[in-house]
Amino acid sequence: MKTYIEGSSKIGILTRRLLKIFRLERVTIAYGKARVKTKILMQSRRCQKPIFESRSVYFYLLFFTCICSLTVRAENLTEPLSVVIIGKGPAGLATAIEAKSQGAEVCIVEKRKGATRQQTLFLRESSLNLLKKWQVCPSQLSVVTIQDRQIGVVPIHNLEEGMEKRAQELGIQILHGEFLHFHDGKIKISHDGEEVLLPYDIIVAADGAHSKVRDALGIQCTLFGEVKGHSAFIPLAESQSNIGIGDPIKINGFFLRKIGFATGSIIFAQRVLDSRANEPISEKEFQELLKACNLDKECQSYEEKKANVLSDITITLQQAMTFSDEKKRAIVVGDAAATASFFKGMGANTALKAAALAGEFFSRIQKHDMDPYTPFNLKMKGATDELIDDSKFLFCSE
Ligand SMILES: Cc1cc2nc3c(=O)[nH]c(=O)nc-3n(C[C@H](O)[C@H](O)[C@H](O)COP(=O)(O)OP(=O)(O)OC[C@H]3O[C@@H](n4cnc5c(N)ncnc54)[C@H](O)[C@@H]3O)c2cc1C
Repeated sequence: MKTYIEGSSKIGILTRRLLKIFRLERVTIAYGKARVKTKILMQSRRCQKPIFESRSVYFYLLFFTCICSLTVRAENLTEPLSVVIIGKGPAGLATAIEAKSQGAEVCIVEKRKGATRQQTLFLRESSLNLLKKWQVCPSQLSVVTIQDRQIGVVPIHNLEEGMEKRAQELGIQILHGEFLHFHDGKIKISHDGEEVLLPYDIIVAADGAHSKVRDALGIQCTLFGEVKGHSAFIPLAESQSNIGIGDPIKINGFFLRKIGFATGSIIFAQRVLDSRANEPISEKEFQELLKACNLDKECQSYEEKKANVLSDITITLQQAMTFSDEKKRAIVVGDAAATASFFKGMGANTALKAAALAGEFFSRIQKHDMDPYTPFNLKMKGATDELIDDSKFLFCSE
């Protein structure tokens, strides 16, 4: 069937202009002979017989509205939003799942091979609910009730593997490569030793605390402080009754926090913000700290090298000044948006929350919202303010 919009009256000219402005040229529109009155004529392609003909202005407006919505929908079906995410940590994977569930075509670019990181994450109930919503089931995730709160405990690589499995089920493409910079409206990545240009509709900076994408966008960070940290998962020979998350203790130039399980303890330590803030914490210093806090059993197990240790961790308290760039069609999530101390165990929790906010952003784009960036910025500011405020006391210099 062919649709003609005939006529040279004002309404006919205006409609054709509107179709052009809204880029609806794909609608089968042919101009008939100029007539005084505008009419819509639907004609069978085969026999050229008119199927429908109308000069009614009301029908005309109804027809125009239908064509607009059908064409916009057709455009969405043929060209889904293309989202490129840099970084396959918790923020990148979760944002990918959100974008895909909004109908986008998603590609993650990750420079690391495999999930190898060691830290154990503590996830809040809100994060556990998000994992449920995304149908992510990490192996080794145990949910414990501590001080009347449900807490998920999972090694980061198990969380990443669970999320990656879900991403693959959804058909999300994962590319091994490294973001280099923006080039001519595209992004340049290195992939298999070659430089490749990737086109995109939206780019997501989920590339961690030292985000190269954020820097390439020219987004500055407010730096509140930087200190060294040390963490140890220490198994105990006898099960302990002192189970729970202890409050941070300030002692001998360090902050220390213990999380007690029946079978062991996780001890976090970080330097206070003084002249030695950037010196790595040695094993000897850590042992002395355990002794000073009367953690003798932990100290013995640590001395016997039974602990799983993460040493020389740089802990930065920083927050991006904005979380998007409309010109470059970019948003910033996870540690790239704000980084805090692992002491409060909120980094990954905030990263998952940011992914859910990114989901709202994609939904606004799909609904042709005029400005999806402002609400995203505002909500990200709220979420990251909370993260920063929670950790600020650990970075106060005296
Ligand atoms: C010891 C320790 C304990 C912690 N405990 C907790 C906890 O209990 N609870 C909690 O909520 N948080 C915790 N955190 C913080 C948590 O690990 C982070 O907040 C979280 O991993 C942030 O996720 P992300 O995806 O934003 O960044 P990341 O996990 O850092 O992921 C970024 C990804 O981007 C990739 N990448 C970087 N640059 C590029 C590039 N140019 N091109 C391509 N890829 C790139 C990286 O390889 C990486 O895979 C802890 C952190 C530490 C160090």
